[in-house]
Amino acid sequence: MQIFRSFIDGDWLRSASGRIVSNVNPADTNDIIGTVELASREESRRAVESAFNAFRDWKRTPPPARGKIVARAARLMEERKEELAAAITREEGKTLAEARGELTRAINVVEFCAGESRRMVGETIPSELPANFAYTIKEPHGVVAAITPWNFPVAIPAWKIAPALVAGNTAVFKPATLTPKTAVMLTELFNEAGLPPGVLNLVLGSGSEAGDEILNHPAVKAVSFTGSTETGLKIYAQVAPRGVKVQAEMGGKNPVVVLEDCDIALAVESTAQGAFGSTGQRCTATSRAIVIDKIADEFVEKIVERAKSFRLGPGDDPTTDIGPSVDESQFKTVLKYIDIGREDGAELLCGGRRAEVEGLENGWFVEPTVFDRVTTDMRIAREEIFGPVLSVLRVKDYEEAMAVANDSEYGLSSSVFTNDVNSMYRFIEDIETGMTHVNSPTTGGEAHIPFGGIKNTGLGAREQGSTSLDFYTELKVVYIDHTGRKREGNLY
Ligand code: ADP
Repeated sequence: MQIFRSFIDGDWLRSASGRIVSNVNPADTNDIIGTVELASREESRRAVESAFNAFRDWKRTPPPARGKIVARAARLMEERKEELAAAITREEGKTLAEARGELTRAINVVEFCAGESRRMVGETIPSELPANFAYTIKEPHGVVAAITPWNFPVAIPAWKIAPALVAGNTAVFKPATLTPKTAVMLTELFNEAGLPPGVLNLVLGSGSEAGDEILNHPAVKAVSFTGSTETGLKIYAQVAPRGVKVQAEMGGKNPVVVLEDCDIALAVESTAQGAFGSTGQRCTATSRAIVIDKIADEFVEKIVERAKSFRLGPGDDPTTDIGPSVDESQFKTVLKYIDIGREDGAELLCGGRRAEVEGLENGWFVEPTVFDRVTTDMRIAREEIFGPVLSVLRVKDYEEAMAVANDSEYGLSSSVFTNDVNSMYRFIEDIETGMTHVNSPTTGGEAHIPFGGIKNTGLGAREQGSTSLDFYTELKVVYIDHTGRKREGNLY
């Protein structure tokens, strides 16, 4: 059995906290992967101090030299792809195919960011005055905290750590305690790629203690967070008095709008993949299907049939379509929401129970669940469930569909299914989400394309793509007067 430790100033830490938790396979709770030594508050502070001490030299390292190290990390990820994918599957539960997909995204992001190191360009701007001009330089903040969830334990940390380091920041990485193995592997390979000690530190610890201590440290100048809206807003409030920059990617309640003229088979398949793939544990997962009345019966009949066809099982079995919920707490939350849906009067059409998987009776499996005749006042239409549960809301026309789709505190992703070009553009204009898809699932993204939400989903600059480095850099504006004389006239 492995022991998972924090990594501070280039060394694996033997924590003095005396506090440990087990890392368990959610498909088979008899499979104990290892023990996590939780960092104490004092050790968490040391991680920030180590990042602070490493900052001066790292900032002065030319960006392409920083990028070379990050590129090497991408190559190591590629070499260890299978090992990393197996680790994701074992501690998070998703299927190996999904884990490989996550790795592909992570590698692409890290490669992209490495390339950005040669494009940290500014602007030169002519002045109103003769023999004067201005230019801009991108500079790092200092110590960045990367606080990440368990659902994409490699990709999300990778898309925070890579741009933070390329931009010249040093980082303290605080992953979710449920996924320490992948966090350790990722830290290890970044370190092996040639990072000087202290540039990337890993703190394995609870959010309420280690996370809290990191956030309270005055050296932390920026926080990139992905997780629940509740935690994200709490973190924002906690650091706001110090003027710390915050980027947060939080909850979602992503709708698909299924219009009358669509290809129903395509809408059903895409909705099913979006709702049940990765066990519904994606921030971009489809959780509401908003369907025009006229085609609702057909849509519902087909989606129930498809939901029942998914094979649940351990992620390392190639015949498995859907893995378990990540742990007991998440499993119970999903079942609690299913009860709430029933009590609120939604019609349960399939699923709704623990799934029996032969030989794995203790795994946290939930049957893909479809509720019909959900209305916007019900909690299952409003709150993020993060499990394989789909709510179908029937509407009379496009206007009602959009009112329902936008009746949400969240705004991450969405889809429309239509074959009418005017409806498509109308939807793109009307929908209140940061990302939207046409005739494809609400999920998925690409490394070179910005990712993020609006409303209570997203705070701060977008991650990835052309916006990758925005959050991690400050702009310095430089005015140059090369007349060699006292300025003639004024600048206003
Ligand atoms: P999830 O449901 O995905 O675990 P959370 O928002 O609870 O979402 O957690 C996301 C990350 O935030 C985890 O790494 C967690 O440990 C961390 N976290 C939770 N609470 C706090 C907090 N008060 N301060 C700092 N980090 C926190």
